[in-house]
Amino acid sequence: MQAGNPGGSRRPHRIAVIGAGYAGLACAVELAAAGRAVTVFESSKVLGGRARVLEWDGLRLDNGQHLLSGAYAELLRLMRLVDPHSDSLFRRLPLDLRFVQGFRLRVPRLPAPLHLAAALVAARGPGWRERLAAVCFMRALKKGRYRLAQDTDVASLLAQHGQGEKLRRYLWDPLCLAALNTPPERASAAVFCNVLRDALGGNRKASDLLFPAVDLSILFPEPASDWLLGKGAQIVRGNAIRRIELSDHAVRVDGGDFSHAVLAVGPYAVPALLPPEAAFDPLRAALQNMAHEPIATAYFRFAPEVRLPGPMLGSASGLIQWVFDRGRIDGHHGVLAVVISASGPHLDLARDELLDQLAAELAKLFPRLPAPHARQLVIERRATFACAPGLARPRNATPHTRLWLAGDYTAGDYPATLEAAVRSGVRAARGVLMPV
Ligand SMILES: Cc1cc2nc3c(=O)[nH]c(=O)nc-3n(C[C@H](O)[C@H](O)[C@H](O)COP(=O)(O)OP(=O)(O)OC[C@H]3O[C@@H](n4cnc5c(N)ncnc54)[C@H](O)[C@@H]3O)c2cc1C
Repeated sequence: MQAGNPGGSRRPHRIAVIGAGYAGLACAVELAAAGRAVTVFESSKVLGGRARVLEWDGLRLDNGQHLLSGAYAELLRLMRLVDPHSDSLFRRLPLDLRFVQGFRLRVPRLPAPLHLAAALVAARGPGWRERLAAVCFMRALKKGRYRLAQDTDVASLLAQHGQGEKLRRYLWDPLCLAALNTPPERASAAVFCNVLRDALGGNRKASDLLFPAVDLSILFPEPASDWLLGKGAQIVRGNAIRRIELSDHAVRVDGGDFSHAVLAVGPYAVPALLPPEAAFDPLRAALQNMAHEPIATAYFRFAPEVRLPGPMLGSASGLIQWVFDRGRIDGHHGVLAVVISASGPHLDLARDELLDQLAAELAKLFPRLPAPHARQLVIERRATFACAPGLARPRNATPHTRLWLAGDYTAGDYPATLEAAVRSGVRAARGVLMPV
């Protein structure tokens, strides 16, 4: 399909966004909201990229269980812009980290910063010395404005602040894995501090957990696409862009000329699309050297009566890290989603071996569970970049003023998350809109 300004005789004004994940769509919405004409190219028929619907056993589930945080200000803002009723698309619950092994940390409905201190003091499981150390740790981070003189790994940061074994096992390590998708021994303490600042050190609502009540394509990508179409944008699905040609006055994409192009594809897909000029070599090399971490999600289907004691339960033994009861979240009664973040021994197992082991662990954790009658495993091998200490992430701007990058991996405060993707998309749009 030709879109944009074929032939390019006049100066093109339309902007091409390549990739309709959360970053690309956020970018397109921000551009269209500013009155600019946009064409979005997406290689898949399904919108959402790494956060998309997956149909299985007659159900609309996701390629991986996702969780949002009350601190996701930009995603929530854009969701509201494209759908004023977007608050009904998720269930907002106060932070409640509950483990099958007995640990529980619940944020009470108290004003900040009391909510956090009260949650830590009342945490069930660790002794009072550990709880006090956790309060002191958070106070020390706050005093330093959640900034570190030098980045280190999360395990070292926790050791420096005397965090005990129980709090590490049930609180800090699971938080690090869930948010950074990188084991604490290899994860950036600076990025972890940013997450703690917003999720625990901010106001109480920022610490809320937001469980998507619809699949991840309906949560934002589809309403964004409808809104964009209403603004005259073009959304081209099932069209993988293979080449981008840059000149002084235009960017050629798919046979059409555009004023700018925003590359909103995953970091691993960027190098093949960058122009061959030497000016792009450092960016190409940085992206080719970027390491990635997987996320595995296993779905187990039981009779619809099956219910867990909460929507999300942790486990600190075996392979299972979190179990989500989809019945309590989005009405898929009897469906449990088991999540394993980052790389680990589970990746050495064959598909059926892993599913067998997870089923056996589930049966041990919840002895009253019947046998599942269907199961499915999705391993996203490059779910996120590995969030290592001191990692230099590329900026949105590239060596050519008409070409921009958007995606969860670009420079920013956050690890690879929906919020990082959306913030990056918005930043790229503002870069394009900025008068030169
Ligand atoms: C299993 C899993 C669980 C996760 N859990 C969470 C969570 O709980 N909370 C959270 O906040 N984040 C979570 N994340 C991270 C989050 O999903 C990502 O950070 C986010 O979706 C990245 O969005 P993006 O737009 O930057 O990239 P992508 O989603 O990768 O979007 C890139 C898009 O570009 C398209 N594309 C690629 N090449 C081309 C081409 N040549 N032409 C046209 N289109 C192309 C792709 O098809 C894709 O749609 C999870 C990720 C995974 C995989």
